[in-house]
Amino acid sequence: MEIKQFVLNPFSMNCYIYFDENSKEGIIIDPAADSEKEKEQILEFIKKNNIKIKFIVNTHGHIDHILGNKFAKDSFKVPILMNGKDEFLISAAKEQSRFFGLNFPEPPPIDTYIQNNTKITINGTELIFLNTPGHSPGSVCMIDHQNKIAFCGDLIFKNSVGRTDLQGGDFVTLLDSIKNKLFQICGDDYALYPGHMEKTNVKDEKELNPFLK
Ligand SMILES: [Zn+2]
Repeated sequence: MEIKQFVLNPFSMNCYIYFDENSKEGIIIDPAADSEKEKEQILEFIKKNNIKIKFIVNTHGHIDHILGNKFAKDSFKVPILMNGKDEFLISAAKEQSRFFGLNFPEPPPIDTYIQNNTKITINGTELIFLNTPGHSPGSVCMIDHQNKIAFCGDLIFKNSVGRTDLQGGDFVTLLDSIKNKLFQICGDDYALYPGHMEKTNVKDEKELNPFLK
C-alpha cells in the first residue's frame, strides 16, 4: 500500500490517498480541498497514477475535514463513510464556513455510517474502523493491521492531542480513546497518520507525548 499526503485548506489539514500499488485501488481520507488549485492537485495525482478511488472516508465531521465532500463525491462517485454521531456537526459546519469565509457547497449525505469494526477492503487489504471519541463524538481511526498503520484523524498528533473544547468534545473520553482503545489494538510499531502535522508512531507517543504522562 502507498500513502500520498496533501495538506489542504487554511487549517493545514492532512488528506491522504491510501492505495494499492498493484491494483491501483484506493481510498481518499478527508478530501477537504478548498481552492481549485488543491482540487486540481488531487485529481492530477489520481489520474497520473491511474488510481481507482473506492471510498471517501471522513475521520470526523469538523469543517476542515468535510468541506471537500461534494468535490470528492462529484469526482469519484463512490460512498462517503462517516460515523453518524458527527452528523450534527455538518449543520454547524455550514455556519463555520461562513464565519471563516470558506467555500462549503451543500454536502452530500453520508452513505455508510461507520460503526466499531466496520471493515472495507482494498484489493485484499483489510481496513478496520475503531470508534475513538473525544475530539468529537463520532471521531474514528482507520487501521490497517497488515501494514501496521493507523489513520487517526484529530485524536492524537505528534507530541500533542486533538482539542476537546469544541462541540461534543471531552478530554477524559479522548485520553480513554487513545490509551484504552487505539493503543490497546495498535502496538508500539504502528505508524500514526494524523489529521494535522507530521506522522508519528505509537512508541514515540507513549514515551514523549506530554498529554499521556
Ligand atoms: Zn477536528
